Amino acid sequence: MLSNRRSYHTVRFQARRLGQRMLDFGFPESRPACLLCHRPLLDSGVSPKGEFALPENVCMFCRQDAQATVNTPTFRRLSVDCSDGRPVPLIVLAGADYQGFLRNAIRQWKYDGALELTPWLTGLMINAYRARVWPDWRFNLLVAVPPSVQRLRQRGYHHVGILASALQSPLQTPVLEVLARPTCSADPVKEGAATQTARNAAQRRQALQAAFVLQAGSGNSVAGARVLLVDDVVTTGSTLSACAEVLYGAGAATVVGLTIANVR
Ligand SMILES: [Zn+2]
Repeated sequence: MLSNRRSYHTVRFQARRLGQRMLDFGFPESRPACLLCHRPLLDSGVSPKGEFALPENVCMFCRQDAQATVNTPTFRRLSVDCSDGRPVPLIVLAGADYQGFLRNAIRQWKYDGALELTPWLTGLMINAYRARVWPDWRFNLLVAVPPSVQRLRQRGYHHVGILASALQSPLQTPVLEVLARPTCSADPVKEGAATQTARNAAQRRQALQAAFVLQAGSGNSVAGARVLLVDDVVTTGSTLSACAEVLYGAGAATVVGLTIANVR
């Protein structure tokens, strides 16, 4: 059922894009196009308002899709093994399920440089946070899951770091780079969703064991801290679990994951 719905959205999105490219063939530079579907951007008479709105260069059709696709915040309950062997629960909050319009939007934001979507994606994360976290609760640190050097070179930007920075002010929590990936290691984490889902949790867990380390000199910041660990998408949860193990190993009091979307 879910895969049918996903393929429906994917086919519709691709057909829309192809149609727009054909339309634009005769007038390549003549009209502004939607950031997401590349249809001509017609004036709908609605100007987006709000700090976490979709950007102005998103068409009314994509706005309708966004409203229809983005559902209520959700969460996952994972388990992390601490250095003393004690299992600790890891709650991961997510703005919505990774499907349909949101999946396409995240892909364009992550791989195609559509960074204008950052405020809207951040808004989904803040919804998830406010749905589950007590209003008077404060985290001490926002920590972004670091990219591999290879991925950073390919994309040219640290997309999760951009999210963490955007969350700083609304959540009144400072960002600190306390996690790193050893540069000598290979890239065991393939961040494309298709590759992630193709691996099973045990294989990924094994590959991730040595993938994250604490930044030199970060121990004092992490010891006793309540950490909000930021990533874009939670798939198997192996990446977030591996990062949380490092943070708990450095003495963090609490680690909670915060993501845009959850892959069911
Ligand atoms: Zn559009």
